[in-house]
Amino acid sequence: MPKVKKRTWAFAKTQSQKNKSRRVGSCLHCKQDIMSDDSFVIFATKQPAHHRCYAKETEKEQQQQKVETKLWDNLKDWNTNKKDIYL
Ligand SMILES: [Zn+2]
Repeated sequence: MPKVKKRTWAFAKTQSQKNKSRRVGSCLHCKQDIMSDDSFVIFATKQPAHHRCYAKETEKEQQQQKVETKLWDNLKDWNTNKKDIYL
């Protein structure tokens, strides 16, 4: 049955083309689908995000960080003090 064989081949080819730009996941920031041929980043939490969304968020975070860094420093000091007490 050569006809069937040919159809199987055509199907296999379509599948592999689909795999070339497969869906990576939904963006952490805009919740839209990310395709593997988009520009994207993957976080340590295995969550992907569009590169453009990531850049936008990073910019926003950097402005927040000025406040957060101060909080972090306070917390670090607190931890150090606590450790000193236990030692
Ligand atoms: Zn996005």
